[in-house]
Amino acid sequence: MNAPKSPAGRAPLMSLDEALADLLARVEAMTAEDTVATFDADGRVLAQDLVSALQVPPNDNSSMDGYALRAADVTEPGQVLRVSQRIAAGHTGGPLEPGTCARIFTGAPMPAGADAVVMQEDTIEVGGDIHAAHIQVIPEPGQWVRRAGEDVTRGAVVLAQGERLSPASLGLAASLGLAQVPVRVRPRVAMFSTGDELVMPGDVAPEAMKPGNIYNSNRFFLRTLLQRFGCEVTDLGIVPDQREATVAALQGAAEQHDLILTSGGVSVGEEDHVKPAVQQLGSLDLWQIGMKPGKPFAYGTVRRDGGGACHFIGLPGNPVSSFVTFLLLVRPFLLKLQGVPASRIQTLPLATTLPAHFTVARADKRREFLRVRRNAAGGLDLFPNQSSGVLTSMAWGDGLVDNPAGTTIANGDPVSYISFADLLA
Ligand code: AMP
Ligand code: MG
Repeated sequence: MNAPKSPAGRAPLMSLDEALADLLARVEAMTAEDTVATFDADGRVLAQDLVSALQVPPNDNSSMDGYALRAADVTEPGQVLRVSQRIAAGHTGGPLEPGTCARIFTGAPMPAGADAVVMQEDTIEVGGDIHAAHIQVIPEPGQWVRRAGEDVTRGAVVLAQGERLSPASLGLAASLGLAQVPVRVRPRVAMFSTGDELVMPGDVAPEAMKPGNIYNSNRFFLRTLLQRFGCEVTDLGIVPDQREATVAALQGAAEQHDLILTSGGVSVGEEDHVKPAVQQLGSLDLWQIGMKPGKPFAYGTVRRDGGGACHFIGLPGNPVSSFVTFLLLVRPFLLKLQGVPASRIQTLPLATTLPAHFTVARADKRREFLRVRRNAAGGLDLFPNQSSGVLTSMAWGDGLVDNPAGTTIANGDPVSYISFADLLA
């Protein structure tokens, strides 16, 4: 970015909204399609409209266990109707004999001539020679009947292209008879962590840690988040803080991937090798975003030998910054890459206004995303340590308060709360 420098020599901060708009403008949806089993399609993005070849439900059917009858045949409570047939779900009956009723069960098709169901709780069964039922209520035509096509009409677009499939939409697709669905291909994402201080859990026991070592925690949540957002992940592990190693990792990954995602090494220190390595292989913009946590954020491209380029996103190394910038910036990027239309991407999920049960006495210059948790009193508690290195705040919290720059918070103030559940959806 060639932004003008402030008198102090630092580039002015970019707003999160500007960063989001800029980032999304650089990504085109991948268009290739795949066909997958409906069972395996959770979280995938539909590549075509799903049009129903049938109506759902296919026939009028009973929504209760009870008696199907003609409503007009019951003129007073307590009237007795002979039971002329029995229809269970999965079976069909014959036309209803006039002046009689049919024993019917939930989901069974209505017999021709019947227009209402009286639930069994409103009847008294009469056994013996003639099987009959006292109908204790006067039925309304249509009561307890599910109409053919009331859920889906034939020819309707039930799910539109660009929709991200959820457990409910898989059930809906199945109700149309679809064992497979057309989806967009998964983005292929290569990821690596940078930092000579990092060691892997399992490789080094806690008691064997050398001074200065820390466990690589970003790798665990970043890989999981990428998978949750539908990516096929190649995890390249830890790349040492060296220019050549970083260049080699980037160069190799660019060929077969749509995005390279890294954590750490994007500040401007001497040990931050990601920036010059990406610049050598393509282009890189290092953004100082006016948000806390998560100020440094890098977007770039890495050229491929065969032509074209691979997207590059460099997240900050501090775990909370890395996590939050993933949720606020990478999430919408991945949705757009997979073909979710821009109009349907909520860059920031809808916030709820809730009372703060805490105070923020010192206003920050940056827009702050505070880790909070809803409490039983209907308010929000703040995690006491909001440092960007304290990952406990993310695991303890159930969402973020979006606090505008320069704003203090007093106890009871209404604040904007965004749940992690929405950010992970
Ligand atoms: P960096 O952005 O590389 O300067 O890293 C900033 C801070 O985040 C440093 O304290 C790093 O040790 C820490 N950090 C970087 N990468 C990771 C990681 N993968 N897991 C845990 N902490 C990390
Ligand atoms: Mg580092």
